[in-house]
Amino acid sequence: MFRISPVGMGSGRVEQLSSFAMRLAEAMAVSFADFFRELVAPQLYKKKRRPQRVSVVSKGVIDGMTRTAAEWVAALEDVASVGDLTTCTLLPYAGAIGPRRLVTTNRRWCPICLQEMANNGITPVYEPLVWRIEEVTICPFHNVRLVSECPKCKCGGQVPLVFNARVGCCRHCGAWMGQSTLSHDEQPIGEFEVHCALACDELLAIPGTLPEGRQVLPSKVAVESLRDVFFEGNGAAMARATGGLASQVNGYATGQFPAPLHFFLRAGYITGATMQDILVTNSFDVAASRRHDEQFDVRRAVPKRFSEQLAVDMGLQAALDGDGSTSVRAIAINLNLAPASVWRRNPTLASAVSRRHAAFVAAVAAKRRSEFEAAVHAAVAGCVHRGEQPTPERMKQALGDPACFLNDWKRATIRNAMATVGL
Ligand SMILES: [Zn+2]
Ligand SMILES: [Zn+2]
Repeated sequence: MFRISPVGMGSGRVEQLSSFAMRLAEAMAVSFADFFRELVAPQLYKKKRRPQRVSVVSKGVIDGMTRTAAEWVAALEDVASVGDLTTCTLLPYAGAIGPRRLVTTNRRWCPICLQEMANNGITPVYEPLVWRIEEVTICPFHNVRLVSECPKCKCGGQVPLVFNARVGCCRHCGAWMGQSTLSHDEQPIGEFEVHCALACDELLAIPGTLPEGRQVLPSKVAVESLRDVFFEGNGAAMARATGGLASQVNGYATGQFPAPLHFFLRAGYITGATMQDILVTNSFDVAASRRHDEQFDVRRAVPKRFSEQLAVDMGLQAALDGDGSTSVRAIAINLNLAPASVWRRNPTLASAVSRRHAAFVAAVAAKRRSEFEAAVHAAVAGCVHRGEQPTPERMKQALGDPACFLNDWKRATIRNAMATVGL
């Protein structure tokens, strides 16, 4: 019996549960669909009624702090016969950090890290949990932005749990997504982004440092001490500094709701407190801490239906402003939505995008046709020039298209070209 365990346990580069699930299926040499149906689903539905047809819930996020995450942890611990898998998720931070908008639905990755893992062969290629944390946007080792679109087919919407899931590979075209270099034509990476990436790395290493049975501090305790030590107990001042609303900060401090991760990241950036200081020891070295003066914008929670509408509108508008190569379907795939939802959210723009895409496809086809006609004429003329008979074999070779006589239109084009030179 083989046995694999998650990579990087106890470190900030711990493997995400989805990645471990994909690798487990691969180690068992079964497709992810079979792995799910035969091994995971029986565990997931042990206590619940099993649906008629089980299929992978592709939009399910198992790496966060939800019940789904806890159920998958239990199921995979059983399937893989490995110990505690909670550290491959954000479950150890329940109660300390707000659960909303914590983990991205889609996979994101540093292509250079992937390529290095593949090249060095020391650890298996895997996808670290830190890549899936919403607030992490860059790879601090390579100073590049994390990407979410396949380098080959350019498709986003890379949800991890699909029937053909493979670590480091595109769910749409199967291409390997590691790259040795990336072009640097994007916006420069800011100091706060670097702080977030490093602080989240530190955050994920915390469970490995805690003594058996100890947990991270509850949000309320962490917020109160930050406020008292650095803001003289003034919630409103803390709210101003972190770009929040006083009512929000008071809600966190009184334990009405746990503070979101971005609040702790901003607080850490401003005060110089580390994640360990904030969530474990609560002892702050005020004199030694390096403070940043940063004006943060107020971040208000956007209800999901608004953000989805906004994403659809922006996606459609970008397609309309582009070269026409993007279809409504491609936009839907990138947003993890059904094409029908994109149409429903903005029928006017969707139909404009469709018309533009149809024109683009037609133009591409026309261009291909005229290129083919020109190539045929040149090939026939070449034969005539050399005094050869343009046989089907010669034509196939000259055109580099062994299937050209199978297509009615191409066959007719070749005949017409031969007729024009009297053959
Ligand atoms: Zn990297
Ligand atoms: Zn692809």
